Amino acid sequence: MSISYVNGRYLTHADAGVHIEDRGFQFADAVYEVFAVQGGRLIDEAPHLDRLARSLREIGVPQPMAPAALKMVMRHLLRVNRVRNGGLYLQVSRGVARRDFPAPDGLTPTVVMTVSRQKPFDPVAALIGVRVITAPDLRWKRCDIKTVQLLAGVLSKTAAYAHGAGEAWLLDEDHMITEGASSNAWIVTRDKTLVTHQTDRTILGGITRQTILKLADEHGLNCVERPFSLAEARAAREAFTTSSTLMVRPVTHIDASQIGDGTAGAFCRKLIDLYAAYMKKSPSV
Ligand code: PMP
Repeated sequence: MSISYVNGRYLTHADAGVHIEDRGFQFADAVYEVFAVQGGRLIDEAPHLDRLARSLREIGVPQPMAPAALKMVMRHLLRVNRVRNGGLYLQVSRGVARRDFPAPDGLTPTVVMTVSRQKPFDPVAALIGVRVITAPDLRWKRCDIKTVQLLAGVLSKTAAYAHGAGEAWLLDEDHMITEGASSNAWIVTRDKTLVTHQTDRTILGGITRQTILKLADEHGLNCVERPFSLAEARAAREAFTTSSTLMVRPVTHIDASQIGDGTAGAFCRKLIDLYAAYMKKSPSV
């Protein structure tokens, strides 16, 4: 049984809960982060905390505690749960108030953290790709804010699983791929350029995406941030998807179309290795 954190208390997971009038529960009036933990290291902690601060600012919720205190709680929770490989989920909601749409001033934000344990990242296992289906992007117009309002993603990812796929790539009205239901979408074009959608309000600026862009740049790979169409993706040399949970994962099929030879391509292999090495360089917690 794991220990979770709720508003200053460490509780057994089964006993951890928030008030039924929490605005996170009532209105999805909350933001979150998922941190990967590998080999006792928190991966990209600083950019995740920066993105959390930005999400909070964008929805007008105060930072619930000083960053140093937040980091201390995160470390304590990982320690008491003996998590060396897995993830840490952190949610901050606006707080508790009688249900009414306008957000009252002065609420105390609710802070929840949970952990999960997983097998360590295995670069060989990561070569096993995922199939993706495509689905209409039904989300709102501020996908850059990492809110818990995830129903559109839930429905498209559920449809993906029902089709034996592992992720859904989302299509805008012009048949351009914005991103995955819970990951960022990438292709490698015939002329060996890595392409991923630019950060704007139509996608979440993934932290893994940002790190992969940096690693690719440092190793001389050509990257362009722009939208790409479903047709371009189907004809791509390679495709892959990135997130703190999946890390870097080759895409073998988009709907019924096989991508490349249906296995991890050379660019994706290289990025998996670079990312694995990058994680090993993160400081231990
Ligand atoms: N896009 C969406 C919609 C997501 O939900 C996620 C994962 N939370 C990502 C992209 C990937 O972001 P990150 O690399 O920060 O996990």
